[in-house]
Amino acid sequence: MLDSIPSAAQAAYGPIPGPVLFAVIAFVGLACFAYIVTRRLTPLLRAEQDVRFDRPLIRLERVFKYWLGQWKHPRFRFAGTMHILIFAGFLILAFQAFSLLILGISGNVVLSRFSETAGNLYGPVKDYAATIVFLCMVVAATRRIVFKPTRYEVPTKFGKGHKADAIFLLALIATLMASEGLIEASKAALQAQRGQTGEMLALASLPWLMKRALASASHSRLWNLYRGAYLVDVLTFYFLLCYRPFGIQFHVETSLFNVYFAKLDRGTVKPVKWGLTQTEVDKVQSIGVKTFEDFTWKHMLDFYSCADCGRCSDQCPAKAVGRPLSPRFLTTKARDYSFQHYPVLGKSENGTPLIGSVYSEDEIWSCTTCGACEEECPLLIEYIDKIVDLRRGMVDDGNVPKSLQKPLKALESRGNPYGKMEKKRAEWTKSADFQKSCRVPVLDGNQPADTLYFVDSITSYDDRMQSIGRATAKIFDHVGTNFGILGAAEKDSGHEVRRFGEETLFMALRDHNTEAIKASGVQRIVTADPHAYNALKHDYKDLPPVEHISQFIAREVKAGKIKFNPVEDADKVYAYHDPCYLGRHNQVYDDPREVLDAIPGLKRVEMERSRDRALCCGGGGLMLFYEPKEEQRIGVLRAKMAAEAGADVIVTACPFCMVNMEDAIKVAGLEGQLTAIDLTELVDRQIAREIPAEVGELVSEIKQEVAPV
Ligand code: SF4
Ligand code: SF4
Repeated sequence: MLDSIPSAAQAAYGPIPGPVLFAVIAFVGLACFAYIVTRRLTPLLRAEQDVRFDRPLIRLERVFKYWLGQWKHPRFRFAGTMHILIFAGFLILAFQAFSLLILGISGNVVLSRFSETAGNLYGPVKDYAATIVFLCMVVAATRRIVFKPTRYEVPTKFGKGHKADAIFLLALIATLMASEGLIEASKAALQAQRGQTGEMLALASLPWLMKRALASASHSRLWNLYRGAYLVDVLTFYFLLCYRPFGIQFHVETSLFNVYFAKLDRGTVKPVKWGLTQTEVDKVQSIGVKTFEDFTWKHMLDFYSCADCGRCSDQCPAKAVGRPLSPRFLTTKARDYSFQHYPVLGKSENGTPLIGSVYSEDEIWSCTTCGACEEECPLLIEYIDKIVDLRRGMVDDGNVPKSLQKPLKALESRGNPYGKMEKKRAEWTKSADFQKSCRVPVLDGNQPADTLYFVDSITSYDDRMQSIGRATAKIFDHVGTNFGILGAAEKDSGHEVRRFGEETLFMALRDHNTEAIKASGVQRIVTADPHAYNALKHDYKDLPPVEHISQFIAREVKAGKIKFNPVEDADKVYAYHDPCYLGRHNQVYDDPREVLDAIPGLKRVEMERSRDRALCCGGGGLMLFYEPKEEQRIGVLRAKMAAEAGADVIVTACPFCMVNMEDAIKVAGLEGQLTAIDLTELVDRQIAREIPAEVGELVSEIKQEVAPV
């Protein structure tokens, strides 16, 4: 019987009785762990506040999905599957580990023996779990040492690598699995030698193989192995527990909390300081993150929770073109800083400026806020808010790149980054040709309308993008929407201004537009610019409902109010490029595709990276005025991706994407092979407009007159 082999925890270890030894180990291990974690929490207690205790049910649901369900892991098939196996193995083995440790203290309580049936079922499961985790450790270490995936590389400009730490941890976990296997195997072998029926070991599992290897070992050897394995197991467990908070494995402890407290609202940017009114923000002495302690406690928890897996950087467009930014290292550098300045032993120091010591200016300006990193991270680690906060800090110190100073001044004085006159904002509506086909009323208070077309600066002032404005207006007109624009009363939505870190200017633009929109009395807002859409939807408050034009068109197509002629160029292949602020930040993926698919004869392909993995075009908004150091343009990568997918036409649904794509097509030398068109332009071109009867008759008469005799 199982009980007839004395417990390894109760045996003597030299002159020390087992119960005393393991009680001391447990006490020292737990005390060290508690002390280390307390020290690790010190900076969090000094950090800025963060509001993360709302909506507990949604948060719990996300814990089930992203933490327990490992939802994002299969996005990287091989590494993701391994992680799922390891995670599941750990959960299963947690009972076993607990059981062994309690056994060390009490000698009687063993979870797997609470019920014999449960124990019989649990036994083989845990044997296989330990085997799988052990094998995963071997595979993971081999990958890191032999195959060295580029995702794990650490270029010297991004600080020190953590490969040795990762491999050491893999070795510790493998040791834990092996020692637990050896406890089972030696015990079973001892039982077999005594002719007793012991616990069945799962066929071909690690303990089963070990037991076979030990079949001819002497009784005393088995006994020593049994006790030795138990001692190694307990020591490794507590060592691992205390070692984890020193490196990437700290995520084992923090990830559950990190997922629970993760940001819930996409597309938003955190306030300058939580809990302050606008007037109070104006009076704040220092804005943004300048020192480590200016981060919020949740952002610090992010730093501790990063598993250093590199998935964020793998998807980052800035990293892909060699800009001095790679999101993973934003986190690991901050974590290293925290460990160094808040050591477990010794005095904590704080207050060192981060820019110049931990981060470079270019690194922080290089982000397009595309959100690809956040979409990818299995632990829901946030980047955009941190980057915006760091930018706020730089802007507050007057540390603004030269090329951005002019557009910012223009935004302040004229409400647009080009410095153009306010009264010219509606000039795009005034071309004679356009006015023949469509009238765009300016909502000046005397002209009521249901729908506001919020145009925003680029479409209002950029000669090329004005075509998007005209196409949008013609679509409204076609379906009989009672719409209008704000004209000179509209200012830039401030979307990029906010993400650039100029919160005060953003607030001024937002307040101005909010007042103008409310005064117009409209019931809804539609825009063809995803940046304006995101700003009005998430950065503004108390506005009528906001829609992107692709959502509006998709609905009208479904309602039968928009019908299309067969595609003009049936030999061409189209690829849709998801704008980051429409797709990732607002989850609008299907509407634009449905519109394209409703055009008869239009052939459409998906690019290698699309939907929530779409590659950013290279930066909207103020990124048009800032050129970071890079090896090639992000847009060029995207244009090449479209060409590789076999597309002749890239369809965008954003004026900023259009600027970048048209430019990229030229730079990539793909002119003549690839073109770009906005969804509104394509829809306007393809709409089947009914010809009024009198015009139809006139056309037939002309046709008859010119018909060959
Ligand atoms: S938001 Fe985009 S550009 Fe910025 S770090 Fe993340 S992936 Fe890179
Ligand atoms: S931030 Fe997330 S995706 Fe990036 S390395 Fe850390 S855990 Fe991986």
